[in-house]
Amino acid sequence: DSVARQREIPRLPPNISRESFNRAMAELREILGDANVELNDKPLVDGWYMEHPNTHDAFHITDQEEMVCSAVVFPSSTAEVQSVVLWANKYLIPIYPISMGRNLGYGGAAPRVPGSVVLDLGKRMNKVLKINARSATCQVEPGVSYYALYEEIQKLGLPLWIDCPDLGGGSVLGNAIDRGVGYTPYGDHFSKHCGMEIVLPTGELLRTGMGAMEGKNGTDNPTWESFQPPYGPYSDGMFSQSNYGIVTKMGFWLMPETGSKTYMVVFPNDNDFEQIVEVIRPLAQQGVFANIPQLRNVIQELAVFGKPRSDWWNGKGQMPREEIRKHATALPCGDIAWVFYGCQYGDAASIQSQMNCIQKAFSTIEGSRFIYPEELPDDHYIHARTKVFSGNPVLKEIDWCNWKPNGAHLDFSPITPTQGEDARIVHDIIHRLFKKYGFDLFPTLTIAGREMHYIANIIYDMSDPDEKRRAVELMCELIRETAAEGYGEYRTHLLLADQVAATYGWNDQALRRFNESIKDALDPNGILAPGRNGIWPKNYRGKGWEI
Ligand code: ADP
Repeated sequence: DSVARQREIPRLPPNISRESFNRAMAELREILGDANVELNDKPLVDGWYMEHPNTHDAFHITDQEEMVCSAVVFPSSTAEVQSVVLWANKYLIPIYPISMGRNLGYGGAAPRVPGSVVLDLGKRMNKVLKINARSATCQVEPGVSYYALYEEIQKLGLPLWIDCPDLGGGSVLGNAIDRGVGYTPYGDHFSKHCGMEIVLPTGELLRTGMGAMEGKNGTDNPTWESFQPPYGPYSDGMFSQSNYGIVTKMGFWLMPETGSKTYMVVFPNDNDFEQIVEVIRPLAQQGVFANIPQLRNVIQELAVFGKPRSDWWNGKGQMPREEIRKHATALPCGDIAWVFYGCQYGDAASIQSQMNCIQKAFSTIEGSRFIYPEELPDDHYIHARTKVFSGNPVLKEIDWCNWKPNGAHLDFSPITPTQGEDARIVHDIIHRLFKKYGFDLFPTLTIAGREMHYIANIIYDMSDPDEKRRAVELMCELIRETAAEGYGEYRTHLLLADQVAATYGWNDQALRRFNESIKDALDPNGILAPGRNGIWPKNYRGKGWEI
């Protein structure tokens, strides 16, 4: 409360006087209407997943008041987005687009530069614009959530699946732009997008892919959502994890409904996990796994219950292995060390032949056992997994945050080769550093044929400044140590973007300099999301913004 009173309200954008800010806001109200411009001048409320704030980072890792916007605006159309962009260029006020702003663990709805104006696209631009049952495609606006797309398809009675991440409340478009992932065979969201409409930082309008070609009589091109590249360079990737444009429409491929079978494989020995990775690799390369399966540590069997950690153990520091074992033994899967969550797809005969192959492969690991959903009680996590594996949105995963009071999470997710020895190196670094900083470790490995993501969730108490400080220090040390081994993060929190981007530094930061050249060409005034993904426009570079 006292901190809230210290904030200049609203927080102004850098180098803008209150007078010129007020003038700019008056003009913005004329463009969008009074009701669609909200100053960030009330006490901040963290809310929860379904009622997340668009004023700041709900899962703050520094002071709650640090990552705040000056105002939130709600455009209703591409044309209004263009008007706001022109306005930003006129007043040199940084703007920060979000789709729904549920990017929890990565910065939420917060802008990187405090005092930026947040463009909340999702509130009023939330239509499923097209669904084509014959081509199994759709086109959406930024405010379409996984739940909304799912319901639209159900309403039309179409035999199509969506692909959702662990939580179904986020934006289909926003998640794809940030290169988020899900769990059906269409889990690589950006690779299943097809054609975008983008407002560039100068206010110009661009369509990529086949959308760049007009259809008959000025209609949308009939293959906008069907074929990804246009003629010439394929530029779509530039608009993912970047600050080069505001995406207002996006096409997607939808997966035709099929049969599926979910299962777990449990392994009794802590040290088996290198061998598990070795068994998974060829199955993934051969396509026996059509989606990206997960290997989780036994501690997740406790965490996904949603009970606070103190119900299991109330000691300080990392929960000891023996405590985890004691409680896991009393749970349905028993005294295990690792759990593999898999799903096979196709008709019954095809699933059977895939299962034969998988059973044979895992039988080489001593003590491994298959467990099926029908053998487990109704409240077991497997049932939420079964839904996600077949494109049904769920919210179960948020229960994790109950592990700590005022629980929030921060994710560390380096990419390594799918090889036992790499899994061991990265696991040992992560295990040692989590212990050093006093956090429980929840390893999840999402394993593909050639690389895997080791996802380590830091669950921390947001009301405890010391815990937040330790969480950030842990992240910094993790980034440094794994980079020294050659492992880089695929995504990170807004405030760690500079550090992660710098690890991609081969040849004197050639990639960063290249990204900056593009930024300066597309956004000469540096108004669009400065600093996002470690890309700073020239008017910010070398002025103390990079951390
Ligand atoms: P979700 O609600 O799915 O978690 P967000 O809306 O928070 O997704 O989007 C994640 C991040 O991606 C945002 O912080 C923003 O930087 C970027 N982003 C989201 N939507 C857009 C968009 N339409 N245009 C440009 N960048 C976007």
